[in-house]
Amino acid sequence: MSPAAPIGLMSAMHEELVLLLEAMPDEQRVTVAGRDFWLGHWQGRSVVVVLSRIGKVAAATTATALIERFGVQQIVFTGVAGGVGPGVRVGDVVLADSFVQHDMDASPLFPRHEVPLYGRSRFATDPALSRGLALAAQQVLAQVAAHVGGAAVAEFALHSPRLHTGLIASGDRFVSSTSECRALQQALPEALAVEMEGAAVAQVCADYGVPFAALRTVSDRADDDAHADFSRFIRSVASRYSLGMLSAWLAR
Ligand code: SAH
Repeated sequence: MSPAAPIGLMSAMHEELVLLLEAMPDEQRVTVAGRDFWLGHWQGRSVVVVLSRIGKVAAATTATALIERFGVQQIVFTGVAGGVGPGVRVGDVVLADSFVQHDMDASPLFPRHEVPLYGRSRFATDPALSRGLALAAQQVLAQVAAHVGGAAVAEFALHSPRLHTGLIASGDRFVSSTSECRALQQALPEALAVEMEGAAVAQVCADYGVPFAALRTVSDRADDDAHADFSRFIRSVASRYSLGMLSAWLAR
């Protein structure tokens, strides 16, 4: 990989993107496919920062443009997710080792969750990239108050938040009922979290052979309370985690 090749940083939430842009000294906007891509530097590294947009298709288009138009040679994706695995609590972080589309179902032609013509349902993330991000995430979680402030620690009960590594399930639904969450847990018992974009980006990156990693802050438990304080949490916790984790990772 050439040292000048830019790193693609995708944010699922607008609040995260705003903090990244504040940290960049020299960003320039280039609009492609109705999306604003921000080219510049951060921690001395060449980066392209962009909002993923919500849902699998929108995120796939964004990832494709990052690769085809901007030549990024790795992609790191951050955002929030619903915790569905046991012990995955609000304020924890999930690092994906692989993704699955929980709403992919071409049965009986193909097994449930298998992406037709790929012969598999899981798309793995890049181990080396993920190891670096795990260290950065642990660094932030060890000092939450320094990143989000004491008031947010108290409001969201961020006491010893943990980093979990494993499967993340993506689909075009905001999972916000206890019954739907249970059905997901039954269909994919090893899934730690659910969101709406990651599996699509993992598939695009697999198609292009671009190393990919993803970190999601757990904003809810994908149950009947899933919408409570969602925006406040993103503003005061998740966006600050993302800033801290990406900054620590790039600084290494
Ligand atoms: N208000 C937001 C929209 C959020 S959509 C805005 O205007 O931008 C939900 C986002 O949170 C998606 O990026 C999705 O990946 C993630 N997410 C968080 N909790 C989720 C859950 N329980 N189910 C599905 N996606 C979830």
